[in-house]
Amino acid sequence: MARDREYIKLINNRRWRELRLSVLSREPLCRRCAQAGRVRQAREVHHVQPIQTGVTPWERERLAYDPANLMPLCPECHQREHEHLGSKGKAEQTSRRKAETAEFMRRFYGEELGAEGADVTA
Ligand SMILES: [Zn+2]
Repeated sequence: MARDREYIKLINNRRWRELRLSVLSREPLCRRCAQAGRVRQAREVHHVQPIQTGVTPWERERLAYDPANLMPLCPECHQREHEHLGSKGKAEQTSRRKAETAEFMRRFYGEELGAEGADVTA
């Protein structure tokens, strides 16, 4: 699937590796465990809103690299997050994400149009 290749491309590069390391060095403990009162080292960086839910390539890129969309987790919590995502039902999740994405795009265009040379052709 093209999106899987795109996903791999987004996280298999220096930009992601450096971002990931900076997230883990800024917040070295698993956030879910911390919320539950446990102290456990975070080893993975979770995308709170999955990259694949982005409608356009630049939306998926933003989801991949936006620090606000990243959450340091231990491997167990990371796996749990993904099981949780998978159990919600894809159709429901997709329609909700679409609404969220539409809202986000309005904000994104409003706030960032023309910034960083973004090529917005819609
Ligand atoms: Zn954890």
